[in-house]
Amino acid sequence: MKGTVFLVGAGPGDLGLITLRGYELLQKAEVVVYDHLVNPKLLDFAPRARRVFAGKRSDSHVLEQPEINRLLVAEARKGKAVLRLKGGDPYLFGRGAEEAEALARARVPFEIVPGVTAAIGASTYAGIPLTHRDKASQVTFVTGNTKDGDFEAADLPRRGTLVVYMGQKSLGRIAKKLVSLGWNPKTPAATVSWATTPRQRTVRGTLGTIAGKAADLAAPAVTIVGEVADLERRLRWFERKPLFGKRVVVTRAREQSHELSHRLESLGAEVVTFSTIRIRPVRVAPIVVRGYTHVAFTSKTAVDLFFKNLKGDARALAGTTVCAVGEQTARSLAERGVRPDVVAAEFTSRALARELAGRGMKGAHVFHPGADKMNPDFEILLRNCGARVTNLVLYRIDKVAPDDVSSVEDADWVTFASAQTVRNFMAAVDGRPVTARVACIGPITAKAARQFGLRVAAIPRRFTFDALVEEIVRVEGGKPR
Ligand code: SAH
Repeated sequence: MKGTVFLVGAGPGDLGLITLRGYELLQKAEVVVYDHLVNPKLLDFAPRARRVFAGKRSDSHVLEQPEINRLLVAEARKGKAVLRLKGGDPYLFGRGAEEAEALARARVPFEIVPGVTAAIGASTYAGIPLTHRDKASQVTFVTGNTKDGDFEAADLPRRGTLVVYMGQKSLGRIAKKLVSLGWNPKTPAATVSWATTPRQRTVRGTLGTIAGKAADLAAPAVTIVGEVADLERRLRWFERKPLFGKRVVVTRAREQSHELSHRLESLGAEVVTFSTIRIRPVRVAPIVVRGYTHVAFTSKTAVDLFFKNLKGDARALAGTTVCAVGEQTARSLAERGVRPDVVAAEFTSRALARELAGRGMKGAHVFHPGADKMNPDFEILLRNCGARVTNLVLYRIDKVAPDDVSSVEDADWVTFASAQTVRNFMAAVDGRPVTARVACIGPITAKAARQFGLRVAAIPRRFTFDALVEEIVRVEGGKPR
């Protein structure tokens, strides 16, 4: 990859719509030059790369095209693996051709990776097939914004389906031109903005009405004109998702938020991660499990870091009673081939201690790897019934400054997975009103949230992320449980 420029299509917005090839190249890239239409979460796939924002909004260019071209050539000549990430497909209306030509002129090796273009993304996610045996047998992609700004110069077809890119300003003129070419003004039309993202909006009309109806849809948007545009009523699916259009704040340590975020996003929610804490692993000597009767795991992170630092493998736990707090922790043990003997139904270490105390713990020796700030009740309760407890700190929980407090203001939901996170969150928002509904993983978290006057609207019966998400869907009027 050294010294090569890869022009990669990022797709229309939905993270999952980049190609496998694009994803693999991102992971190896050393420099990523990206546009404003690219989903910024894609950059997380390129952790090692230097990131350069090329901007390019038609009003406020951040880097002019020649500067971008020069940058690509210069970085490649330094021997870097350069990835030029462009919205949609690189060769459709995105000046990818000009960049490739500049590379060819400079004799810099390049490769092109196609992407799902906006028309295809809008068509599929809005429910408007571009062709149909009874309705359209040809498709035309056209830009409403040509180099000399003179749209009339473009040759428009007389039938089939038309997809207009960059047409928000010129839609009225384009529609008139089509009618003058013989198109029926009653031809169905639909404008789709922010296609494939949680902000997607679809407005339907006819050739005669669409310019007016779509006037206040935010760019980026494409307009689809043709008989097929009518199918949207029957074929819509994305905008029907149970959490579509909902903005959900996930308050977790950044390292842990992926699973919950992914689940929410797959149901159509727009997820904003709000990190109030950060998990920092502590360096420890290889863990040897010897002489303990019990090993207690009170978080998923404890399981992860225990196995990372364990001398040997899961067999080290043979002969001990393995205990876990909550299903989430139990599941990550199961993923390592360890079925816990005791699982506290409630997601607290105190619940686990009580559960164990009920079984008789006299003479037991409990090994408890976990966080620096452990609930002292766990140890006290067990000691009171005659057990010894050895704690091992595997990670520290640090507070971090939140990335963007304003993101909370227009949220529909805020999720909490621990009482501590509630407290950190409230400290971070610093007196700003929180009007969103609140979803808490369990009763202790909910109690903390209520103490701050938060509007707790969802507490699942089981203390897992899946159950939490299901509960939010239920409250939103989705499927009953
Ligand atoms: N190369 C890109 C197009 C770049 S031109 C591609 O293949 O999609 C920018 C135009 O693309 C925008 O003005 C808009 O018309 C369209 N566009 C890009 N992303 C879009 C999205 N998510 N939803 C709707 N239109 C989009």
